[in-house]
Amino acid sequence: APASFDAFRTIDLRGTHLSAAELRSAMPRSTSASFDSVAARVEGIIADVRTRGFDSLTELAQRFDGVQQRHPRVPAEALREALRTLDPSVRSALEESIDRARAFAAAQKPEDVSLDIRPGAVLTHRWVPVGRVGLYVPGGLAVLASSVVMNVVPAQAAGVESIALASPPHKDFGGLPHPVILAAAELLGVNEVYGIGGAQAIAAFAYGVAGDGNRNPIEPVDVVTGPGNIYVATAKRLVKGVVGIDAEAGTTEIAVLADRTAQPRLVAADLISQAEHDPNAASVLITPSVELAAAVRAELSVQVASTRHRERVETALTGPQSGTILVDDIDHGVTVCDAYAAEHLEIHTADAAAVAARIRNAGAVFVGEYSPVSLGDYCAGSNHVLPTAGTAAFASGLSIYTFLRAMQIIDYNADALQEVSRHVVQLAQAEDLPGHGDAVQVRFP
Ligand code: NAD
Repeated sequence: APASFDAFRTIDLRGTHLSAAELRSAMPRSTSASFDSVAARVEGIIADVRTRGFDSLTELAQRFDGVQQRHPRVPAEALREALRTLDPSVRSALEESIDRARAFAAAQKPEDVSLDIRPGAVLTHRWVPVGRVGLYVPGGLAVLASSVVMNVVPAQAAGVESIALASPPHKDFGGLPHPVILAAAELLGVNEVYGIGGAQAIAAFAYGVAGDGNRNPIEPVDVVTGPGNIYVATAKRLVKGVVGIDAEAGTTEIAVLADRTAQPRLVAADLISQAEHDPNAASVLITPSVELAAAVRAELSVQVASTRHRERVETALTGPQSGTILVDDIDHGVTVCDAYAAEHLEIHTADAAAVAARIRNAGAVFVGEYSPVSLGDYCAGSNHVLPTAGTAAFASGLSIYTFLRAMQIIDYNADALQEVSRHVVQLAQAEDLPGHGDAVQVRFP
C-alpha cells in the first residue's frame, strides 16, 4: 500500500512572530546525519590516514567498499578503456553538460584590477589559480559522474595546473571507481584518479600520503572540493585550514517556495527527485496555501509508489529534515527561505523572477516551473556542488572563484613613498611600533 504522506510533517508558522534565532531553530534538520553526530568517527579516520598512510587506506577500502587494494591509483589504461566503451548517448550528454559548464565558468572569469592611487603608486588585485586541487566525486548510493564535470570544469577554467580526483572503489568494477566516472575524467583530460571513498579521500588529499619502496606517494593539495555524504562533508570541515574547501556540500536539500498557482504534480516530482539521493536528504515545501500543501501530499503518495528508489525516498520524505512549512504569505515565505538557507531553492509562485530576486540565502535558486533542480544537477550550465545544512548563509557553490585567490601587489616609487611617509611614521608611533616608521625613514636619510 502506498505510504500515507501524512508522515510528511507540517510545521505551522502562520501567525508566529519568531526572532531570527527562533526561526532558525524551527527549521527542519536531520538529527542523525549532522556534523556533531559523526565528527568523532570522522576524526578517527583522518588521524588514521595521517599516521598509517597506504596501510590505513587499504584497510578502509576493505571495510567500507569491500575492495582489495594495493595502491588506489587508477591505471591510465583503465581510464582510456572506460571512455572507449562508454555508451555514445551518455558520452554526448556529458559533452553537452561540459559545454554549458565551460561557457558559464569562462564567463565568470574575473578581471585583474590595477589602480594608480597616486602618481608612482600602483596597486594591483591579481587573480591567481591555486597550484593543486583534490576533487571528490561521490560513488556510494549513486554514481555521480556529473560531479566529475562539476568539479573539473571550473578548476580547469581557473587555470589549476595539477588536478587529482577521488571516488569510492567498487567491488563490481574490479576494485576501481564506476566506469562512467573514469570515462568522464578521461574525457576531461584528468589522469590522476584514485579509488578512495569518503572521509579517507579527503584526508589523503589534505595531508598527502607518503610513498614507500613500492608505492608512489599522493602529494597533498591546496584545495579540496566536491559533494558527498555526511562523512565527506564533515571531513571537509575538519581539514579546513590545512587546505581550502569549496563549501560543505553535504547531503542534498531542496526547498520549494510555492503559492496556490503552483502545480502540485511538478512540486511533488521535484521533492522526490532530491529525496532520491540519500535517506537523509531534505525535501521542504514552503507555502501559504493549505490547499496546495494537501495537493502536494496527495501527489507524493501517488508518485512515490512508482519511483525506483522508493524506500530511500520514503525515508527521506518522512524524516525530521523534510516536510511542509506553512507561512502567512509570500513575504513571510521569503523570510523562512532565508532562515532555512536551502542548497536548492525552487520558486513556483506568480511572478517567480521578482520573488527570486528577493532571496538572500540559497546555494542556487531555480526560477519558475521550467527550471527544475534536475536541470541544474546535469545540464543547466550552473554548478551542482552547493552549500548545505544552512551554510548557504555564508558559503557559495563551486565556481571558478573556488580555485582562485586574489593577490594584492604594491608597487610605489621613491617619490610616492616619500609623499606618504609622514603618515606611516605617525600611525607607527600611535601603535607604539616605531620600527615600522624607521623602516620607511631609513630610505630617506
Ligand atoms: P559518497 O561517495 O559521498 O560516500 C560513500 C563513502 O562514505 C563510502 O565509500 C565510505 O567511505 C563512506 N561511508 C559510508 N558509511 C560510512 C560510515 N558508517 N562511517 C564512515 N564512512 C562511511 O556517496 P553517497 O553515500 O552516495 O553520498 C553522496 C552524497 O552526495 C549524497 O548525500 C548526496 O545528497 C550528496 N550530494 C551533494 C551535493 C551538494 O552539492 N551538496 C551534490 C550532489 C550530491
